[in-house]
Amino acid sequence: MWTTWKMQQILITTHTQNVEYIATRFPRDVQLYSEMLPVEAGLQKTIDNVSVPGLLVWVRSSNGKLLAQSTDFNSELTTTTQLMSMAEMPLKPQVYQFKDRYFVLYGGAVVVKGLLLGKVYMVQDITADQHELMSARQSLTIVCILATSVMMGAIALRIRRSLQPLHEMSQMAGVISAEDLGEAKLLLRHAPSEVKQLAQTFNMMLSRLSEAWEQQRQFVSNVSHELRTPLTIVSGYLQSVLRRSTNLNDNQREALETATSEAERTIHLLQDLLDLARADSGYIHFHLEPLILNDLAIEAATMAEKFSNRSITVKATDNVEAVADRDRLQQVLINLIDNAMKYSDPDDSIILELERIDRQAVIRVCDRGVGIALQHQSRIFERFYRVDESRARSTGGHGLGLAIVKTFVETMGGEIAVRSKPGAGSVFTIVLPIPQK
Ligand code: ADP
Repeated sequence: MWTTWKMQQILITTHTQNVEYIATRFPRDVQLYSEMLPVEAGLQKTIDNVSVPGLLVWVRSSNGKLLAQSTDFNSELTTTTQLMSMAEMPLKPQVYQFKDRYFVLYGGAVVVKGLLLGKVYMVQDITADQHELMSARQSLTIVCILATSVMMGAIALRIRRSLQPLHEMSQMAGVISAEDLGEAKLLLRHAPSEVKQLAQTFNMMLSRLSEAWEQQRQFVSNVSHELRTPLTIVSGYLQSVLRRSTNLNDNQREALETATSEAERTIHLLQDLLDLARADSGYIHFHLEPLILNDLAIEAATMAEKFSNRSITVKATDNVEAVADRDRLQQVLINLIDNAMKYSDPDDSIILELERIDRQAVIRVCDRGVGIALQHQSRIFERFYRVDESRARSTGGHGLGLAIVKTFVETMGGEIAVRSKPGAGSVFTIVLPIPQK
């Protein structure tokens, strides 16, 4: 815009200066010629002399009579007539627009030897130049728009390229979990140095986090271990006092029973915490071997029946084999059966189903208990998550049972899922790999 404005100014100045120059020369030339020729002939000679293409010059006497005029004025006839009929013209050359044409106009007195001859009028047609300027302006605008678009495109591409590593970083960071904090690293090959530096700082932070996480696991593991031993002794003493003392009154017996059950509950919690801390840090060794699940399921069911006086049915059409750690899988089944018993009525049935589907062994623990609402189903495997906190005391759990189950099943290469409907019961499904033949 500035360039076209400047070009326009230059064009106007050039034309006005040109007309101004002719206007100042005009009286001198007239005087020169009138010394040799009659005044009117001198005027005509001067006009012919100063005439250039596109310039119309004419002189009128003070009473308006046309004394002389240039001959080769090539503007349209009507415009010429209109211009010549104009009474007043500016004393300084100025640009005017008539319809779609542009002119520089000038009108000034012609004084020769102190005598006023009349008025000289000059009209310079600058339409062609003005049109050229307009088309130059149009081309410049198009070039500017194109250049700006190309530049913006290039900048956008560059920004996209610069942001790509950040996008990669966010994707990599998004999949880092507490379990793989130790090995997690952001690796960027093609990235600006600033982003690489950021990735480096991020990696350093990850390793510090990993250390802190490891320390915390160690702490939980140590505390659980240190507390479990004295608590087991306390619980043993309490049980022996309860068994042996014959002279306890009802209140004393109730207090001792409460203390025993609380000690048992806490030992259970500490054991769960210890199991999880060990599994997290990889200290639990899983002895994976081919197992017949039918025997294991019957063992777990028998064990649970013995402690609860409830009947548990094992259903299987055939022997189902899987690769797993015997003890850990038994612990998993007992935890699930224990939950099925805790969250259903004593006369509700509990079924353990075994099945082989494709290349997987499937174990289902089904109950017809309270069920789990949909919004809780994805969270019950989290540590310390309990659906109904108010039942914590009566059911005796801490919300760690399913977290342990999930950790164990996944470490054995399997998966666990739940399907449940409030009031209708729950089905916990474990899928394990079968032995490769
Ligand atoms: P808890 O020790 O509290 O039982 P779990 O981790 O074993 O902890 O279970 C977490 C929560 O999942 C429980 O508080 C309970 O609300 C719900 N839950 C687990 N198993 C069942 C089940 N078979 N039926 C209904 N709810 C269950």
